[in-house]
Amino acid sequence: MTEPTTDQTTDNPFWSPAVARLHPYVPGEQPKTTARLIKLNTNENPYPPSPKAQAVLQDPQLPSHLRLYPDPESTELRTTIAAQFGLQAEQVFVGNGSDEVLAHAFYSFFQRPEPLLFPDITYSFYPVYCELYGIEARTLPLREDFSIAVADYAIDGAGGVIIPNPNAPTGRYLPLAEIEQLLKLHPERVVVIDEAYIDFGGDSAIALIDRYPNLLVVHTLSKSHALAGLRVGYALGQAHLIEGLNRAKNSFNSYPIDGIAQKVATAAIADRTWLVDNCARVIATREDTCAQLNELGFEIIPSTANFIFAKPPKISAEDLFLALRERNIIVRYFNKPRISEYLRISIGTDEEMAALVAACREVL
Ligand code: PMP
Repeated sequence: MTEPTTDQTTDNPFWSPAVARLHPYVPGEQPKTTARLIKLNTNENPYPPSPKAQAVLQDPQLPSHLRLYPDPESTELRTTIAAQFGLQAEQVFVGNGSDEVLAHAFYSFFQRPEPLLFPDITYSFYPVYCELYGIEARTLPLREDFSIAVADYAIDGAGGVIIPNPNAPTGRYLPLAEIEQLLKLHPERVVVIDEAYIDFGGDSAIALIDRYPNLLVVHTLSKSHALAGLRVGYALGQAHLIEGLNRAKNSFNSYPIDGIAQKVATAAIADRTWLVDNCARVIATREDTCAQLNELGFEIIPSTANFIFAKPPKISAEDLFLALRERNIIVRYFNKPRISEYLRISIGTDEEMAALVAACREVL
């Protein structure tokens, strides 16, 4: 279960033609039990979330709040997020994971006759949203070293641009000066910078929001905040962009984030100290793992994310993927052109990564 399926039934008489045409995104495998399994395939954080976020869940009063509808504006959460970045609450939009935030962004900004530009190797939800909303996808090849060639995005009549920074699944980071070039290339269209992994070493484009009315930055609590199960993500931009997202959101569902998620996310975002410590720990483990895999002969793309993209020596990535699976270590293999020689390995605890390195040593 590593790839979007392409062989779905299309002749169900009850489905609308629009649904019959879809090829939905298939996420990385989520095994029923993770006991005895080292799970390094979906870039989750290996540590529990901030104790302050955990304390919210342990509050005995919490269930009684469920009687009431949540705050449809998520005001406390948006105010807390805004304060972290020196922004106003009107510059923050929240949704059920950044996947949903991105869905609203595609709907609000990219649903146009002109093509949307994004890298050919990138987060595989982007082509899925293009299909869902009838947007033409114009993919631009990464360079040989997997870096993004910004000059290639100088395409007249584009409907917008979206890139993850760092990119997924490569982990490669694009410096802010180049993000600025992208923003200048398409001043009349929205440029979305999907910063799902930015806390693990890159500089955020949030610093550019004041100067660029076309910039939308998307973040998630799933990775650096260790809250993938909570499903909270957010977008930051000038207020006019956030208003566009709210129009779309309120047309689908006026209560986008549930009440428990609002409270837990607020506590997690406010705990900056925990975030900084956690990221430092993951980064240290990443660097250590890279050094050890390098010694074994792996070719590793420089990563500023909580995963690495690594090409094994001697055997194919698929064979190593299968050999690791037999040893109860699960990493991500993509059976796609150019990247099928690599494995994407999420950064786990030091113990988990030591087990991964030991297993690679045994197999290679
Ligand atoms: N963007 C990128 C680049 C990702 O890799 C992911 C995680 N699969 C997401 C967005 C979505 O994260 P979430 O919906 O958990 O916030």
